[in-house]
Amino acid sequence: MSRRASDFADEEFVTADYNDVDIVIVGAGLSGLTCAYNILRRKTGLEVLIIEANRDVGGRILKDYSNSYYANSLQEHVTKLVEMFNINTYPEQNIGVKERILFTRYGHFKNLPKFYGAEVHNFLHMVEKSALDPRFSNYAMHEDSELLAKTSVEQLLRRVVYFPYSRSLCRAFVCSSCATRGLKNISSLWLLVMLNGSSGFFNRLRFTIGDENRYFIQGGMTNIVQELLKKVIHHGGKIRYLDPVNKIRFNDDRAYVQTERKCFKCEFVVLAVPPPMKDIVIESSSECFLNRQNLYVSGENLFFKIIYETPPWLNNGAKDIVTTWDINSNLNTAYNATFGDSRTFALSGFLDQPDSVQTHKKGLFDTLNECFNTTEAQTYVQYKLWNPVLLSDQTLISSPWSVMKPTSIINHVNYAGVPKGRVFLASSENAVNWPGTVDGAIEIGEITAYSILSRIRPQVLTSHEINIMYAKIKNEKTTNFFQDRCYSVLRSSV
Ligand SMILES: Cc1cc2nc3c(=O)[nH]c(=O)nc-3n(C[C@H](O)[C@H](O)[C@H](O)COP(=O)(O)OP(=O)(O)OC[C@H]3O[C@@H](n4cnc5c(N)ncnc54)[C@H](O)[C@@H]3O)c2cc1C
Repeated sequence: MSRRASDFADEEFVTADYNDVDIVIVGAGLSGLTCAYNILRRKTGLEVLIIEANRDVGGRILKDYSNSYYANSLQEHVTKLVEMFNINTYPEQNIGVKERILFTRYGHFKNLPKFYGAEVHNFLHMVEKSALDPRFSNYAMHEDSELLAKTSVEQLLRRVVYFPYSRSLCRAFVCSSCATRGLKNISSLWLLVMLNGSSGFFNRLRFTIGDENRYFIQGGMTNIVQELLKKVIHHGGKIRYLDPVNKIRFNDDRAYVQTERKCFKCEFVVLAVPPPMKDIVIESSSECFLNRQNLYVSGENLFFKIIYETPPWLNNGAKDIVTTWDINSNLNTAYNATFGDSRTFALSGFLDQPDSVQTHKKGLFDTLNECFNTTEAQTYVQYKLWNPVLLSDQTLISSPWSVMKPTSIINHVNYAGVPKGRVFLASSENAVNWPGTVDGAIEIGEITAYSILSRIRPQVLTSHEINIMYAKIKNEKTTNFFQDRCYSVLRSSV
């Protein structure tokens, strides 16, 4: 019978060479793998161990669904990686005229009375203007930030938009930008900083609702994960599967990462797991900042994929759907995920959390029929609904991403690439640009790798990489350390 972590005596933690590595990365999702790859490819001799709770790599890149995942050429990290790995990409298949449907409680939306239109227009432009304001490029303190930090997006909407109908339309666009229905659970400051990192509200909507820059990946997003995995193994990285990390401790010169079966000693720990990290106990008063991770909540969404031989929208051109999210329908968004020269047609999107899968399915197809003005939506060849509870072996991968609750600005800190003691936070949620997406996961994996190397092998970084890293670490509360550190390295390298 395997010993539980709690059975390990303290002496075992301090034995000189007991499971000793340089860097432990917790989580073999896209961010953890990118971080490992960017450290290992420098051939510095650093030992990297990835510890993964599941039996496979990829995390939220779900194998069976990942050919419906998309990226946008505005996103530089994923686009660069795909080019580097020589992976083919495809735009959405052109099936005629593209139309976007806004689905409301009154059905397929057609005309908007002027007074509603003016309110919606004003709100969208107010959010866009604020999201592009440089003050919201991080969580710096200024006159409005504390108030925004404590105010939920729902409260903000209620204060700014008077008519309930206009409000439900505004809600549809905000929900589509952050893929979360519970706007009461989202801090307005967090929303603005997130949108700022995506070059504004309208750009984020272009990504989520889709524009001509959207692309899909041959073999699905899993293809990138598998390429990274190959490279990590090739460069000597080690992965340990089915062994969730449950505790991290520190003493003066090492961190101790404890799993169900073993304890690993290391210089640095990278937490490439999404917040809130409820399963991992961090034992150190100086690392208590990690408790703030529990102020994140998982967005509640289910992913679906429908394959058609004849798509229900064919006669009228391809259609993507945005819903107002406060109607009886359980559909949040749907998009045409057909690409390449496929003979079958795919529709993917997000549903609200189900009470029961059966009623959910019915609700979805009722809405699709109404949107496409047909009765054909349920004549599919395959229907798959991602059920997060059934999917994972050990951990519950609960949602596409997590969002920050309304709380004091003191808790609004993004430690992207900035160590707190020996710990780095590196899930996609911590990215500066395009957080919560594949691009964000790659960005944070890269910055974290540069950040670790700048501390222990600065000579392997180019001045360009140091500049990239510094440009990303914009957090006022944490810049001083890095300003000194990075620029002394930069000075010595030129
Ligand atoms: C259904 C769905 C569709 C999506 N579609 C898109 C899309 O089209 N485009 C896009 O850009 N983004 C999309 N996303 C978001 C994107 O997939 C994620 O942002 C990205 O994959 C997150 O990567 P990550 O490495 O930060 O986190 P994760 O992928 O969550 O990786 C974390 C890893 O840590 C492991 N782990 C957790 N706890 C522990 C522990 N205690 N010990 C050890 N290991 C642990 C997990 O098992 C997991 O493997 C989608 C997400 C979902 C769920």
